[in-house]
Amino acid sequence: MQIKKQFIDGKWVYAEKNKSREIINPFNNEVTAKVTESDKADAKKAILAARNAFDHGEWATSAIERGIIVRKIAELIERDKEELAKLETLDTGKTLEESRWDMEDIAGVFAYYADIADKDGGEIIESPIPNSISKVVYEPVGVCVQITPWNYPLLQATWKLAPALVAGNTLVMKPSEITPLTTIKVFELMEEAGVPKGVVNLVLGSGNTVGAELSENPDVDLVSFTGGIKTGKKIMQAASHTVKKVALELGGKNPNIVFADADFDIAVDQALNAVFFHAGQICSAGTRLIVEEAIHDDFVDALVKRVKNIKLGSGFEEDTEMGPLISKEHLQKVINYVDIGIEEGATVAIGGKQPDAEELKNGFFYMPTILTNCMTAMTVVQNEGFGPVITIEKFTTEDEAIALANDSIYGLSGGVWTKDLAKAERCVAKMRMGTVWVNDFNIYFPHAPWGGYKQSGFGRELGKTGLEEYQEQKHVFVNLQPETINWFGTKEK
Ligand code: NAD
Repeated sequence: MQIKKQFIDGKWVYAEKNKSREIINPFNNEVTAKVTESDKADAKKAILAARNAFDHGEWATSAIERGIIVRKIAELIERDKEELAKLETLDTGKTLEESRWDMEDIAGVFAYYADIADKDGGEIIESPIPNSISKVVYEPVGVCVQITPWNYPLLQATWKLAPALVAGNTLVMKPSEITPLTTIKVFELMEEAGVPKGVVNLVLGSGNTVGAELSENPDVDLVSFTGGIKTGKKIMQAASHTVKKVALELGGKNPNIVFADADFDIAVDQALNAVFFHAGQICSAGTRLIVEEAIHDDFVDALVKRVKNIKLGSGFEEDTEMGPLISKEHLQKVINYVDIGIEEGATVAIGGKQPDAEELKNGFFYMPTILTNCMTAMTVVQNEGFGPVITIEKFTTEDEAIALANDSIYGLSGGVWTKDLAKAERCVAKMRMGTVWVNDFNIYFPHAPWGGYKQSGFGRELGKTGLEEYQEQKHVFVNLQPETINWFGTKEK
């Protein structure tokens, strides 16, 4: 099996130490690819290449040129979207249908940023000083490090790559060591699109070695990270030594509030969609269902009835609705997580174990699970499980629903289901989350910002704010009629 290479300074190269890593198909535990295993030395080389390209290259000079190249990347992704979708399913286990949606979004994000690449050249500010010009211009931050997780490998990479490129930065990306395949492919496409040498660099390998070097290296100006809270804290610490800019997109334990006056069938249907895509391995999964007492029992019954029919299997089979978890280690984490919930008093309404089916035995499958009788203080309600597990809590008043929803260290996203839009607006105003959906869940698009409150992180991806994250603002003041001030040393001693 040919070993896939890293991309440094415009060349595909093996890692210094000549080691490689096996990439595993989570559906059957088979090796699907081998990739070179980068180390700290490779990270340093990649940073140096990005530094040189930024300090001595031309990438930052023309926003129009950058827009043209980023548009080309969008077109190439559109051309190769089926190949990319298959690769993503192979790597993550998610259904091909989901991977296809991802690729549409990914092409759309590159196209969105290509569209706005040259639309904001800065602004003239009304200067309070006569005969002067005051203007604000936007400049790239410099060398950006981008570290991504395994759950939406290419989508998360794209939310970082497209704005960073459009803003004129150079970069080093490190995808999750478990799921690098689509990111490798998109670096090939960026090369084909004509991104100049050294502007985009790709290193592969583990977080503790490569990731740590990228986060602490003094030649890096910004670290943009998507992943878990624990890693985010380490990165923040490592970056603090040289006061790098840091953007963190971390986890979530996202409340989904259903009022008794919501459209019952739609709310049931969407409560499932909110969680079970990609086997619940979504940062914004609505895993914390908070249901008004008057409809609670009927709601649970309706959910259980639907969950019974969820078809597990290979992401490549057309009738599969849910694939496996990403790895053996992650499966064990989810098993332990549910077991702790049961010990703490939750009731398993359905699921709560691995499936028995022989054809799923080699994969990392866990059954879609609903836990009832959940209380706010429980570990399963407070911690992100990152698996196909819904916890259900009851409420009786609007204030109680909001208090429950906000009782969390996280603040990534949440949902409210009601036909009373005034009530929805009252809830939205009090919910401490970066995104709140009313009568919907898990909707995102390139034009609107994405990010977390509280320990779900800081900074925003997507939208205009996603571009600003990769820009410095420079105030330029030009005095058109300079005069002496005669303050220092004018009095003879
Ligand atoms: P993770 O934190 O384990 O790893 C993420 C990345 O960080 C990987 O590339 C990993 O190699 C790297 N890394 C690990 N240790 C590092 C270190 N010391 N220094 C630098 N880099 C290091 O996360 P994961 O398990 O890959 O992803 C799941 C997490 O990501 C979940 O918590 C999920 O909620 C979160 N996530 C958040 C968003 C969002 O938009 N907020 C989106 C997707 C995923």
